[in-house]
Amino acid sequence: MSESTAMTTEYSMGLKADLSGQVAIVTGASQGLGRAIALALAANNATVACLARTESKLQSTVEAIREFGGNAEAFTGDVGDRQSVENAVDAIHEKFDKLDILVNNAGITRDTLLPRMSDDEWESVIQTNLSGAFYMTRAASRIMMRARYGRIINISSVSGLIGNAGQTNYSASKAGLIGMTRSLSRELAGRKVTVNAVAPGFIESEMTAILGDSIVDKVKERIPCKRLGDPADIGAAVLFLASPAASYITGQVITVDGGMIG
Ligand code: NAP
Repeated sequence: MSESTAMTTEYSMGLKADLSGQVAIVTGASQGLGRAIALALAANNATVACLARTESKLQSTVEAIREFGGNAEAFTGDVGDRQSVENAVDAIHEKFDKLDILVNNAGITRDTLLPRMSDDEWESVIQTNLSGAFYMTRAASRIMMRARYGRIINISSVSGLIGNAGQTNYSASKAGLIGMTRSLSRELAGRKVTVNAVAPGFIESEMTAILGDSIVDKVKERIPCKRLGDPADIGAAVLFLASPAASYITGQVITVDGGMIG
């Protein structure tokens, strides 16, 4: 690890792994958890392809990584659009000639109670959160299978494990990701490709900032650790699963929620 990146293990809560020579794709890398995951991987010497729909926001993550001497590049694409995903994965593979790590992090919410939920609110969440991970994983897994090495990490949610009123679409998409993780891990283990999921609880981010202080205080009361998670908590969990130390872990869901769901 270079001197400049050694100073950046704060991005992975002090955890260090040697990802030198490895190429990672992080979807939804422009802000929140995806940005933290991209920083954690890059701070441990992975080259990170940052993917999202908005180029300008992606550039801020890429610049933050380059500032500490890390390697990153922005790729625009919509994970919910099959052709867009195939174009992006082809462009990334062409540019770096390998692909070791895929983090399916891009996700959206369209919360409302089910009796009021429109087709669009249902379909857009499933399309982005679940079909998006499917398109990305299908394209990436072909490359990883040929290379006989890979790490696929899906960002699920505690909502996918225990459910949440007002989030039937989101919970279904996140539970679907867990089913996908468990099944695909069985398909790919023989090729040394591991497939795991991280299920965050409440993490400080743009997604939770819209909740307002009184709701956040009530949420904190339900969390044994008495705080919201930091995006770097998720970066560290992903870094561990992406690291050589996790080569015998596959088909698992790591919950990172301060003890909230028990
Ligand atoms: P966020 O702040 O809303 O960021 C979402 C990211 O995904 C952005 O970079 C966004 O960029 C990108 N994105 C959205 N739709 C996309 C699409 N169709 N194609 C490509 N990129 C897309 O979300 P977050 O809070 O960081 O959450 C990240 C992940 O963690 C999500 O899967 C979320 O469900 C999960 N999670 C979050 C929490 C939490 O407390 N924050 C808890 C549990 C799970 P563009 O809009 O520019 O595309």
